[in-house]
Amino acid sequence: MTIDLDALVSNWRHLAACAGSAECAAVVKANAYGCGIEPVVRALSAAGCTTFFVAVPEEGLRVKTAAPDATCFVLNGLFATAAPTYLKAGLTPILGSVPEVMTWVETAKAAAVPLPCAVHMDSGMTRLGMSLAELQQISSNSDIMDHLDVRLFMTHYACADDIGHAQTLRQRDNFLEGAKLFPGVPRSAANSAADLQKDGHEFELARPGVALYGGEALNDVPNPMKPVVKLEGRIVQIRQAYAGDAVGYGGAEVLKRDSRIAYISVGYADGYHRGSSHMGVPMRQVSPPAQAAFKGQRINGVGRISMDLSGFDVTDIPEDQIAAGDWIELFGDAIAVDDVARAAGTIGYELLTGLGNRYARVYVGGDGQS
Ligand SMILES: *Cc1c(COP(=O)(O)O)cnc(C)c1O
Repeated sequence: MTIDLDALVSNWRHLAACAGSAECAAVVKANAYGCGIEPVVRALSAAGCTTFFVAVPEEGLRVKTAAPDATCFVLNGLFATAAPTYLKAGLTPILGSVPEVMTWVETAKAAAVPLPCAVHMDSGMTRLGMSLAELQQISSNSDIMDHLDVRLFMTHYACADDIGHAQTLRQRDNFLEGAKLFPGVPRSAANSAADLQKDGHEFELARPGVALYGGEALNDVPNPMKPVVKLEGRIVQIRQAYAGDAVGYGGAEVLKRDSRIAYISVGYADGYHRGSSHMGVPMRQVSPPAQAAFKGQRINGVGRISMDLSGFDVTDIPEDQIAAGDWIELFGDAIAVDDVARAAGTIGYELLTGLGNRYARVYVGGDGQS
């Protein structure tokens, strides 16, 4: 797994340009979408990014280690038992319910100082965040507000990947109503998709995630981002097989021609989805099959993907040009991560965040920052 930090920084600059005069933060949850929190945060910090978003405090601690001066917002709310961790590490909770607000108020009272936080509005996604009525109740209560140093007012769009979706416009209207209750507080709504649309969603701060890592954020338009992750598997052995042979679990693929099959040491335990097997996965037939590339030439998967192994048909590659020990690209330069995800019936986000711990993560670029 090769992670190109120069491509990452270039993507962040592109997203920052889309955000216009708004600040451009970076979402680095889920181990920076599989890319590694520390190297990603160091590279983006060096490029000028000063605000990061994570899902849980454990990730926030890693951000703070890599960039002690950065602001780090934690998306998934605040458990009372975790409040001391936030305080000690300087993590900023995103308060998404009234009980969470009260937890932070109690923490602030004990600390005898208003504490930094973000306030999360549910503008229509029906996930985390407070309703307009709850926000009215909180913002008008000085016994609460006196203890909060609200640094950001935010919401999250459910349908931003679909350009011009009516729900996004409704959510924006609701968000603007809520924001009136917190005058002067910077506002944030834009994920990658909303940021790329450059359609007034950026407010004071954009917070892209997937596009930083080269994934597709918008439906039905060419992906403008540079690929960041190249995933390659090493060939363990190349087998000669014959027409009529049954390949892999379930004997699910019966060869139509004499074939050479290259097995790489990557399988579903590494997040290379079994659902993208060429055929024979019960319940669903996937078309087109998972494709990979050898030296830029496309090859097809053969048989079911196993836990630790995947087979590819290399019959059309001359025998003297491929050998055990060579590498097969699963995605990166020749194959887009989102195409592999589509073959598995999912999205690039899930593929990237599911890449396991057995890969050697090799970093290139980034001014030697990592
Ligand atoms: C994950 C997430 C983001 C980033 O979304 P992308 O689609 O990856 O750009 C932004 N905001 C919230 C609340 C999120 O959960």
